[in-house]
Amino acid sequence: MSVTGYPIAEASDQRDATSLDSVSLYLHIPFCHAKCHYCDFNSYAGMLGLREQYVAALRDEIALAGLRARDAAGQPRRCRTIFFGGGTPSLLTPAQIALLLGAAREAFAVDGAAEVTMEANPGALEYERLDEVRAAGVNRLSMGAQSFDPALLRWMGRIHSPEEIETAFGAARAAGFDNVNLDFIFALPGQTQAVWEDTLERALALAPDHLSLYNLIVEEGTPLYSWVARGKVREVDEDTAADMYEHAERRLAAAGYEHYEISNWARPGHACQHNLTYWRNLAWVGLGAGGSSFYARHRFTNVRPIRDYIARVAASVREGDHSALPAGAIVEDEAIGRELEMAETAMLALRLAEGLSLADFAARYGQQFWPTFERRLDDVRPLGLLEEAGGRVRLTEHGRMLGNEVFARLLPDGDDD
Ligand code: SF4
Repeated sequence: MSVTGYPIAEASDQRDATSLDSVSLYLHIPFCHAKCHYCDFNSYAGMLGLREQYVAALRDEIALAGLRARDAAGQPRRCRTIFFGGGTPSLLTPAQIALLLGAAREAFAVDGAAEVTMEANPGALEYERLDEVRAAGVNRLSMGAQSFDPALLRWMGRIHSPEEIETAFGAARAAGFDNVNLDFIFALPGQTQAVWEDTLERALALAPDHLSLYNLIVEEGTPLYSWVARGKVREVDEDTAADMYEHAERRLAAAGYEHYEISNWARPGHACQHNLTYWRNLAWVGLGAGGSSFYARHRFTNVRPIRDYIARVAASVREGDHSALPAGAIVEDEAIGRELEMAETAMLALRLAEGLSLADFAARYGQQFWPTFERRLDDVRPLGLLEEAGGRVRLTEHGRMLGNEVFARLLPDGDDD
């Protein structure tokens, strides 16, 4: 096929070099056995019959993206991390995972030590084939555990029991996975502090390498949203949610976990490298149905329905005209102005315990952080939400609880450039 580069790559300025030194690759697998009641991800139940066609389309899109993202010398772009997200990537066979990783290695210059993560649902995982998944090149597993309370798991529409979380985790360790994350949700309606504490204890008993703890968000369009709207379910109040979060902070610190991002804890050396790409606002290429990319100050988004995605990739391969965006499966292309990108870079970095490096910011944008944001942060600076030390600016402990107050002020209020 004949392919030109991403058109915007030629228009990118010198400073984009910082974010384009390498990319992270996100591969979306949109299949699920059943839809959880709180979920608004681009995932579908009852469509597993399309799995093979979908994997073939994704393989083709990876090849296409690799060609479009070539560096200035026409060489494959360096890739530091790969993440199979979903949906439920553990519904793919090890052979399908291997095929997609092979395509990624052909299309991009994937680092030998690249972090390769696969999300897994404890209720949709062939335990006995996990060694094949590892042999295919996956070196990190991220399991959606969500709770150890059976009633809450049922209420959420999860397809697994608490015991299956433990079995899946044990199987991952037995297969040699030494980098495993568990996801949990807190502030669930009906969840007491005691139930949350019990869930954390059972999680810690497994000694995972990484924990992601998310405050439940009631997303529009989900069954949960309509239950709340109809008064069938009451949301947990902010104070209760804050108590749960603060308990987790204390308990995980005592257990030796580093709280390196607002919702993420890791044992030393196990921070998620892929997600650090997002928080450092560096380039990523997101492929598959609904995948979105951030590349050279553009955000591209793919078509969401699975069948449309497969059809668009097929047409794109057949027609071979990629000289203008939107092209292929991409249906949206948003240019990110420099002002907005600076604000997003600052907002994302402030989610991290390490905060924002003032030197890196100045090198990337050719201007200093404080003169850029001083006026916008005027009213929150005296509140002690931010601190500066060692050439970095970060949220204080108090500021972490009120991060949104700071983030909202960083956004440009006038015309973006
Ligand atoms: S398994 Fe994950 S992606 Fe699938 S419906 Fe549940 S929360 Fe959504």
